Amino acid sequence: MTSEANTPVLRNCIRLPLAEDELLEVTAKAKDYAIMHGAAMRSKTAFSPDSLNFAPFVLVPSSFPRKEFEKAVALQPIINRLMHNVAHDEEFITTTLAETIKVDEFTANLFNIYRKVLAHGFTQKISLGMLRSDLMLESGCPELSPRAFRSKAGADEAGTAAAAAVVGTETDGTVGGTGEDKEKKIKKEMVAAAAERAKNDRRELQLSQATTEQKMKAKGVPSAYCCWKQVEINTIASGFGHLGPASKTIQRFVLSELGHADKLKNMPQNNALAGLCDGMVKAWDIYARPNAVILFIIEDVSYNICDQRFHEFYIRETYPHIKVLRRTLSDVHREGKLGQNKELLLGQQEVAVIYFRAGYEPGHYHSQAEWDARYLMETSLAIKCPSIHYHLAGTKKVQQALAQPAVLERFINDPEEIKAVGKIFTGLYSLDDNEAGNASYEMALKTPEKFVLKPQREGGGNNVYGVDIPDALKRMSRVERSAWILMDLIHPPLTKGYMVRPGAEMPPQIVDMVSELGIFGVVIGDADNIVHNYQAGHMLRTKLSTANEGGVAAGLGALDSPYLIDSDDEEEQ
Ligand code: ADP
Ligand code: MG
Repeated sequence: MTSEANTPVLRNCIRLPLAEDELLEVTAKAKDYAIMHGAAMRSKTAFSPDSLNFAPFVLVPSSFPRKEFEKAVALQPIINRLMHNVAHDEEFITTTLAETIKVDEFTANLFNIYRKVLAHGFTQKISLGMLRSDLMLESGCPELSPRAFRSKAGADEAGTAAAAAVVGTETDGTVGGTGEDKEKKIKKEMVAAAAERAKNDRRELQLSQATTEQKMKAKGVPSAYCCWKQVEINTIASGFGHLGPASKTIQRFVLSELGHADKLKNMPQNNALAGLCDGMVKAWDIYARPNAVILFIIEDVSYNICDQRFHEFYIRETYPHIKVLRRTLSDVHREGKLGQNKELLLGQQEVAVIYFRAGYEPGHYHSQAEWDARYLMETSLAIKCPSIHYHLAGTKKVQQALAQPAVLERFINDPEEIKAVGKIFTGLYSLDDNEAGNASYEMALKTPEKFVLKPQREGGGNNVYGVDIPDALKRMSRVERSAWILMDLIHPPLTKGYMVRPGAEMPPQIVDMVSELGIFGVVIGDADNIVHNYQAGHMLRTKLSTANEGGVAAGLGALDSPYLIDSDDEEEQ
């Protein structure tokens, strides 16, 4: 992904660059702080179950508009309810995925489990949804919020335009005058005034200081933000419940070390770990069997170990009477069976709640054994996070279907809520083999740079971007295309800062970055009732502006947390 030359830049939380000696010292301290506070991962290149590297992080929090952050937080319970209703709409899921499952084997396997579970009736009617709605600011939004940014390309142009406007008045001869000298003097004064005005305009923009929305629009200066768009919604293995808050902990430490403790008030509270774990415990309470355990389904090797162990440790420390087990799908196949009332038993242990941190990609199912284990769990009495219908509701294809006009009305009653949710979708297009799908195909071939092509996969690294899209599409048959969806590329504003990575050169350099905010939500209920529904914290991931994707575990992204800015804030100090 490349950012255009005039991509707006959000102003920084503090003035950068830092002096080199200060930067070296605080970065070294922050690395240790990160490891010692569990902002860490296992190394992929030198894996050892006995050691950790700090997870890549951004040294100072990246700015994010407060208004948009608050909007995202406020909307989450509505998104929770939407997804809960979607998950329980058999007809919608079935028709939406009908074409996809003909060509996408993985989604078809999930759907087969769903079909079998439907045929026998759900043993457990309650589902636990722990969602994460991922979003990016869209800098191409037509509304403007003028003060909170600095334009890279816009400043000089605006200054020149202002000068030209004044000189234009002069050459138009509209100023009048009585004698030649006086005329010359007036001209001179006007040119000087124009230059001064241009200088001031430039300064005004550089300092991100006051100017009106109309003025900015007239100058053609791009907006740094105004709206955000949803990138995707995750219904399975929504990670960073620990690493989200941990990022804030590191950056809070760094800001304080740098003498900016006064800025901490603009870093929003983040109780994601507690919010998510309490969700599991609420489900455990509903299951109401004091000896039953919470089961985490894990990958064969967990690199992102802190983001799972901290959940386990939080539960064990806060609710010592609840035991947590970790098992792979293969383990469950070996050890698991159903009891008399279809309770899931691992040996003698009854399982109350299953939290899937694996099972979202084909590589997690090595053989039929793992699929059988998934089915066993789905048919059991345990409360699943997610249950199979929630998993299917989180597919890209369902997200694309939800973004179509009038679809939200099926799931949300309140017209204001429909309007608010409708606004978060950017263009999402079906590639099914029909008139609309074929038109999207043609559109993608014609202007691929505007789009991202997505399959029904999670976990990063699966999408195709921009100029690579035509080749990818041409390699597919007409029907194969229905395994994919097309989406408008979102163009987030830039931030500038230091990205700190294990093994990277010291001191870090200032780089251009873009961020993706994830808002967590917890929803518990059955087809008829929702018993718990709340927003549960957030996480911010930041990547180089030149990178297509920003997975932290994949090594491209970095932990970050939002520094909330208002449109009338003063320049950073
Ligand atoms: P996954 O399920 O693999 O996480 P995503 O839809 O979240 O798939 O895409 C992965 C990454 O690609 C995102 O985290 C984001 O960085 C980038 N991305 C996805 N969709 C868009 C988009 N519409 N515009 C810009 N970047 C996008
Ligand atoms: Mg994603």
